[in-house]
Amino acid sequence: MKEYRRALARIDLDAIRGNIESLMANTKPGTRFINVIKADGYGHGALEIAKHMADYERLWGFAVASFDEALSLRNGGITQPILILGCTFPEQFAEAINQDLSLTMYDTLAIDEVVAVARELGKPVKVHIKLDTGMGRLGFPVDATGLSAIANLKEMPEIVLEGVYTHFAAADETDKSFTGEQLKKYNYGIAELKKMGVTFANHHTANSAGIIDHQEANFDLVRSGIAAYGLYPSKDVRQQAVPLKPAMEITSHLASVKLLPAGSPISYGRTHTTTRETKVGVVPFGYADGYPRSLSGKGYVLIKGQKAPILGRVCMDMFMVDVSDIPDVSLYDKVTIVGYNGRGCLSVDTLSELSGRFNYEFVCDISKRVPREYI
Ligand code: PLP
Repeated sequence: MKEYRRALARIDLDAIRGNIESLMANTKPGTRFINVIKADGYGHGALEIAKHMADYERLWGFAVASFDEALSLRNGGITQPILILGCTFPEQFAEAINQDLSLTMYDTLAIDEVVAVARELGKPVKVHIKLDTGMGRLGFPVDATGLSAIANLKEMPEIVLEGVYTHFAAADETDKSFTGEQLKKYNYGIAELKKMGVTFANHHTANSAGIIDHQEANFDLVRSGIAAYGLYPSKDVRQQAVPLKPAMEITSHLASVKLLPAGSPISYGRTHTTTRETKVGVVPFGYADGYPRSLSGKGYVLIKGQKAPILGRVCMDMFMVDVSDIPDVSLYDKVTIVGYNGRGCLSVDTLSELSGRFNYEFVCDISKRVPREYI
């Protein structure tokens, strides 16, 4: 019997690997890769990606946002380095050290606390120091106070200074001047730290946009999230320089097809009323699956390679589409929410634009209720 699924996100792991290879072809030889798989691999599945990428020869390791994300990778058997990009809290320090996680540090108080825990455990703690060069988020300032606080690490044998890094705020914009300023500040900070006798194994700045547009920002490591999943960080980066293939396809099957007369209201709030006799299809996918409600009356799906526009509001678990112009459409027909269908293609970027959202958000928001299948 044919298998029908209410909703399915198919993840192409080889596409992710190919995207990473394509990104790395744009870096200097010897540069290694940090596979950013926070937010469950931007909705694609962190553990499956980590397992698939673990043997990649240019892989340094993985990066996540939080201690919990790192722990679930360790519990899933991932033994490669895992860098926590966000804040690790004091009650997590002991387990983080025991699990050999690499912590981002950007505050002297936190450093004192983690050193105390490491001393008590009799084990070193791996640290990447973050510099704030213009993001205004986490990081030591690149000034005398910040740099001397970092230089104090030399007196702390419990710290293994595995890396120093910064994060770009605007590398995906056409105007590259702010990234240039950040890079200048960063290079100054690195040079001063070296002068102060601080030694570290790796340093890194580039995110996806940095890899694509700023080869001068490739140092020992690069960190990419969005581009690994086949999406560009913006329209303004040099897309032709790094070919990518989207790794997520989302499909469903029609839950109902029926004819409604002209003048029929559709969905909550009756924001749409049919203007002709309309064949209405029900797609069993909604905002609880992560589909943006802002696509109400704006988005579309593909059925038999053709566009079926959304009628009225997107509900929690369903939305309605106009299938009047699609020949031979019937119950259980395949619906493509994102991906290829016949000769048609509907991208995350198109839906993000129509919904007034961000492609990063779209994939991250596809909820756990949607089963992932890995190919
Ligand atoms: N590095 C840091 C510190 C980040 O916060 C992120 C994501 O937000 C990345 C790298 C990856 O960025 P992108 O997904 O744009 O490649």
